[in-house]
Amino acid sequence: MAYDPENIFAKILRGEIPCSKVYEDDHVLAFNDIRPQAPIHVLVIPKGAYVSLDDLTERGTDEEVAALFKAVGKVARLTGATEGGYRILANIGENGHQEVPHFHVHIFGGKRLGHMLPKQ
Ligand code: AMP
Repeated sequence: MAYDPENIFAKILRGEIPCSKVYEDDHVLAFNDIRPQAPIHVLVIPKGAYVSLDDLTERGTDEEVAALFKAVGKVARLTGATEGGYRILANIGENGHQEVPHFHVHIFGGKRLGHMLPKQ
């Protein structure tokens, strides 16, 4: 999938629309999800133009890849998600039901999250 620079997270990164920022460094931005599905629901995104995890790890630098995963851990600590446990999740492509085509890792926490996937 080609990267669409008009996606909503690209607009957040360019400062064209606001976000509720939780963490930022040279390579990563993390902000609260606008429609939270748990008491803690943060999105961690690379600043680079990557659609998915496979895209980031194919085209991104080792520094960008490491920064993303370090930021996920940092945000889990910052938000207190580490206290009771938490879940990370990334929806990728059509089968993954990805709505925003800029790679993002969800961090959910603050409550018991139940089974990994809904039972079919
Ligand atoms: P998905 O691509 O399926 O992982 O879902 C995209 C996520 O982005 C959803 O949980 C949305 O609630 C969230 N989202 C969409 N627009 C915004 C926004 N402007 N600020 C924060 N979160 C957003």
